[in-house]
Amino acid sequence: MLSDPSTPHVYARLGVKPVINGVATVTRLGGSRMPPEVMRAMAEGAEAFVDLRELQRAVGRELAHLTRNEAAYVCCGAAAGITLAAAACIAGTDSEKRARLPDTTGIPNEVIVYRRTRTGFDYAIRMAGGRLVGIGPEGDGRTHPEELEAALSDRTAAMFLFPRGEIDRGELPLEQAVSICQARGIPVVVDAAAQIPPASNLWSYTERGADLAIFSGGKGLRGPQSSGLVVGRRALVDAVAFHGPPDPFIGRGMKVGKEEMCGLLAAVEWYLSQDEQALLERYEQQVESVIRRLEGVQGLAVRRVFPSEAGQPIPRAEVCVDEEATGVGAGEVLVRLRQGTPSIELASGPQGRIWINPQTLEPGEEAAIAEGILQTLRRA
Ligand SMILES: *Cc1c(COP(=O)(O)O)cnc(C)c1O
Repeated sequence: MLSDPSTPHVYARLGVKPVINGVATVTRLGGSRMPPEVMRAMAEGAEAFVDLRELQRAVGRELAHLTRNEAAYVCCGAAAGITLAAAACIAGTDSEKRARLPDTTGIPNEVIVYRRTRTGFDYAIRMAGGRLVGIGPEGDGRTHPEELEAALSDRTAAMFLFPRGEIDRGELPLEQAVSICQARGIPVVVDAAAQIPPASNLWSYTERGADLAIFSGGKGLRGPQSSGLVVGRRALVDAVAFHGPPDPFIGRGMKVGKEEMCGLLAAVEWYLSQDEQALLERYEQQVESVIRRLEGVQGLAVRRVFPSEAGQPIPRAEVCVDEEATGVGAGEVLVRLRQGTPSIELASGPQGRIWINPQTLEPGEEAAIAEGILQTLRRA
């Protein structure tokens, strides 16, 4: 903790209630909490002026080494990484094209995506002038290799993948998509924003042939909330930097401070020094402890579910609220938890389900959540 106990905490002074976040590393609740090592690196980075490009190159070299990639680049969040990667795939390192984006008249700008994996984040591709071309079914079903073959043309700039860890949504195996695209010289970019843990994803997508992989700095890595990491092939990472800040082109509004660069490097060093197996075991214990506290309570059905909503190897506790038995619906439970002190945020699912994700809980916070749920039922 860097806060000074002799003065009111900044959130108390502002009248903003701190939240126990049992949802996930979601941006609307602040993503994650930085360990002291990261806060110190940011504070140190704030102490002097530096040549920002030189710092970006130096931090990039270290991050490339740590993540076993040819090259790495710090952006201001995974969504910014997606935009810069799309710009890099569409305009490369051509100054004239860079200055025209998002106008792509006469420039190949089609980006292949699986229809089933479309997310709001593909706005970040369109923002750079990319035009999305969907393959595969909208709903259940698999994508066939011929559909990818048929979608590729001289208008194609890239293929972007949005994997969800262990959740299979009918995508082609990564290696197969890569081999089809690369035979035509089309780069493959993986949005892996929320795919840590496991740490091995820092190298596994690119080892399996993807040209770039993009991670949030402020989710599982617990780096600065406004940071992101792009890793992969040197030429493409250089093209990402070409479109990025501080130059006044598409990436100028996505600027990265020296503090975030230092902080993200410290976060990756910190994360890789952690015992990930022990961390995953702690998540299991937290889920088990919630289940033990709530099972047997009239009107609640509790169980462990796996993997997490992002397909990460993280268990969650699922609490199913029977409104007839408890007198209060799951939606009302969530509202009361949010309005309580401390305020608790949990995720809601279909048919009275509530999910508790331990990834953003410090040890002990799971007990506060279980007590909070019991209290909302007592008040019912
Ligand atoms: C969170 C997320 C992003 C955006 O990441 P930021 O670092 O918040 O910009 C992009 N794609 C996916 C799949 C995400 O989960």
